[in-house]
Amino acid sequence: MEFHFDNTFINTLPEDENQDNTCRQVFNACYSMVQPQKVPRPQQIIYSPEVAQLLDLDDKHCKSLLFEQVFSGNQLLPGMQPHATCYGGHQFGQWAGQLGDGRAINLGEAINSKKERWVLQLKGAGKTPYSRNSDGLAVLRSSVREFLCSEAMHHLGVPTTRALSLMLTGESVWRDMFYDGNAKYEPGAVVCRVAPTFTRFGHFQILAARNNITLLKQLLDHTIQTDFPHLGKPSVETYLTWFGEVCQRTAELIIHWQRVGFVHGVMNTDNMSITGLTIDYGPYGWLENFNLRWTPNTTDSDHQRYHFGNQPRVAFWNLAQLANAIYPLIEPSQSLQDILDQHYTKTFQRGYEKMMAGKLGLKRFDEKLMNDLVVLLQSTETDMTIFYRQLAKMDMSGEIDSTHLTYAYYDNGYLDESYQRHLQTWLSRYASQLKQEQSSETERRSCMNAVNPKYVLRNYLAQQAISTAENGDFTEIHSLLDVLRRPYDEQPELSYYAEKRPDGVGCSMLSCSS
Ligand code: AMP
Ligand code: MG
Repeated sequence: MEFHFDNTFINTLPEDENQDNTCRQVFNACYSMVQPQKVPRPQQIIYSPEVAQLLDLDDKHCKSLLFEQVFSGNQLLPGMQPHATCYGGHQFGQWAGQLGDGRAINLGEAINSKKERWVLQLKGAGKTPYSRNSDGLAVLRSSVREFLCSEAMHHLGVPTTRALSLMLTGESVWRDMFYDGNAKYEPGAVVCRVAPTFTRFGHFQILAARNNITLLKQLLDHTIQTDFPHLGKPSVETYLTWFGEVCQRTAELIIHWQRVGFVHGVMNTDNMSITGLTIDYGPYGWLENFNLRWTPNTTDSDHQRYHFGNQPRVAFWNLAQLANAIYPLIEPSQSLQDILDQHYTKTFQRGYEKMMAGKLGLKRFDEKLMNDLVVLLQSTETDMTIFYRQLAKMDMSGEIDSTHLTYAYYDNGYLDESYQRHLQTWLSRYASQLKQEQSSETERRSCMNAVNPKYVLRNYLAQQAISTAENGDFTEIHSLLDVLRRPYDEQPELSYYAEKRPDGVGCSMLSCSS
């Protein structure tokens, strides 16, 4: 197992001069060199063959003892230069100062045979100068969630950081899952995350907040040269184009989240990737019954800042914070606000309308049809994922029979007369638009099934896989990864994984410590 590393981040940017691995403020530096913590009994749970392939690793490599040692943090390969990076961020709307890689350690930037750059990062590999009051470790339950969801998102076509491997460390970690005084020991785990870059909005924010403009410029120049080489030589003009591209990618990301019903849960600016990837899988959740105001994050349940329907607005707010951060590098006459409006708001609006029309198999977006659907979906508990797949099954060319939809409901509210009247009206309008567009039923069905997944990582499914894994049985994790590899395919033999949340399992809520 060999990698070719080209560690540009640490070769270009200034290093923390203090070599002590103690929690502190790190000034005038973008990272600190730090060793992963050794673990007593590494045990591999699963790896992703697709991510392995990106890194030119085959099954033999991934099943080797060396792989287990390296990706649990016990051994370094030649060329690895472990380090934790410094960033800040706004948490729940408030400036939180320095945060940084508190439980993530970058091993290096691997260049694969296709000359692609993939940063390898261990999450849960021990303390760094950015760990604040915490231990730098991760528990099995949150690591299973990170591993499975990264891969599920990728297969859904949603930009995301990836996960190469999931290892048990053999160590117990003390955690208070709901911050309610009921702490207990949980199995420790390490995920190896993989992405072209892990740079976040917060990397720029911390330098701007400290008025370190020289370093801010250095980081932005490095980012453009390494992660956005197509933009050309860094200059004020390139900074503006760069910001436009970050806006564009973020808009596209959020459209995907809204399409598949993903709620990130902690859209703090330190959890926003500058390349528009989904990053930091914490207390995220998947919409079960469609509810614009749903958030899975218990830490956010009072204000619901990061609820499903608010994600597009929060992304805008976060981009505005990034704009503020790079403002010192832009001449005052040039407007970041215009770029934000053009490349975020307009891109989002256009893309969102196209996406929503696509979910219905329509070529043209009809605002009233869409708004009425949103009302309908919320007027009785309706599983979003199942609804769209069942809608695709219906025959919309003749007399409308809505029996297929029955399966999407969580309660009997759909039997209500007024609900049925609204549903029938909506279905007739939908049918007449389809008729106008003259698309065939087969065409409509295949378009819809290509954008509306049958399989998503339902909260209760992840929980089941975690419970069995905590008892030493990893088969559910493997089965879930398998089914989630082809989320748009029928896979009838696995329909069990497409079932709605069972009775008695409430809407899953998780805390930030997840
Ligand atoms: P998050 O809510 O996961 O985005 O984390 C916010 C900040 O807290 C980041 O700087 C993390 O690195 C840090 N953090 C979260 N959990 C831990 C932990 N167990 N040990 C050290 N730092 C952590
Ligand atoms: Mg984070």
